[in-house]
Amino acid sequence: MSKQPFLTSAASISFEIFPPKKWENFPNLYETLDSLKQLNPEFISCTYGANGSNSKKTAEIVSYIQNQLKIEGIAHLTCAALTRESFLSTIETFQAMGIHNVLALRGDKPQDMTEEEFAARTYKHPSELISELKAAGFTVAAACYPEKHYEAASMEEDLHYLKHKVDQGADFLISQLFFDNDIFYRFMELTAKAGINVPIEAGIMPITSAKMIGTTINLSGASIPKKMTDLLAKYQDNPEDMRKAGIEYATDQIRDLREHSVKGIHIYTMNNARTAGDILAQL
Ligand code: FAD
Repeated sequence: MSKQPFLTSAASISFEIFPPKKWENFPNLYETLDSLKQLNPEFISCTYGANGSNSKKTAEIVSYIQNQLKIEGIAHLTCAALTRESFLSTIETFQAMGIHNVLALRGDKPQDMTEEEFAARTYKHPSELISELKAAGFTVAAACYPEKHYEAASMEEDLHYLKHKVDQGADFLISQLFFDNDIFYRFMELTAKAGINVPIEAGIMPITSAKMIGTTINLSGASIPKKMTDLLAKYQDNPEDMRKAGIEYATDQIRDLREHSVKGIHIYTMNNARTAGDILAQL
């Protein structure tokens, strides 16, 4: 089992993908993954349904990344619907499938859960999973929020709990997406002051259509700078130009991050290898 923390080298790129809704769409996803492999990522992570519904798919996909593509694969795992039994069986499944990297998350309340059920969940926060995952030999990542998590009363409070995740053994952090690099640079300063010394991957999402702003972006809580609003206003009726402009925006963000010595860039691909490839070609 690999115990190497990632991001020890110079500039790296990694990708996030998500499982298709239907098993019959797996061949398409594997094609996407084969294309992403050509871009030489440091790792590829795969999301997990907050209610655990996609757990088998996540494991299948990460096993493909790890064992077939020979790239480090990271399985996301959320606390929201996890019981003691399902946590232990998930660990066993991951080990049996050769998966040794996990992104430990809380998850948001699944739609099919009441507030009371969510509040009564077995594992309240990912910090409770991290030490056990580490003890079982996994390399463990956790999430962080350059604009603070929406539930945290303050950035100080959020950083306090982030440090707790690191103290429990998180090897590195992956950031929520952001569009304003200055926010990320400030966050890096604050994490350093808080004694958080593990690598932090910068989350970048290319906005290739106007409708993405209304969905994924709203959920992330990322603030949208004027430069991005202007771009949306200009190209909202022209999908091809909007795509080009979105790719250019993400490319500029990554260039600037690299100039500021940010080593790890994590691209939220939305399962679109062409977009990821276009960005890397421009870099
Ligand atoms: P936490 O670390 O628990 O933080 C949530 C809130 O609780 C924060 O306000 C924090 O300050 C506070 N907190 C943390 N620890 C404690 C503690 N010990 N005691 C009291 N308060 C505490 N969701 C999915 O469903 N599936 C995915 O695959 C997925 N992947 C993601 C990948 C990334 C990189 C990111 C950034 C998010 C992802 N999410 C995913 C969304 C995530 O589940 C939500 O943002 C969720 O609301 C918080 O998850 P967390 O792990 O950051 O939670």
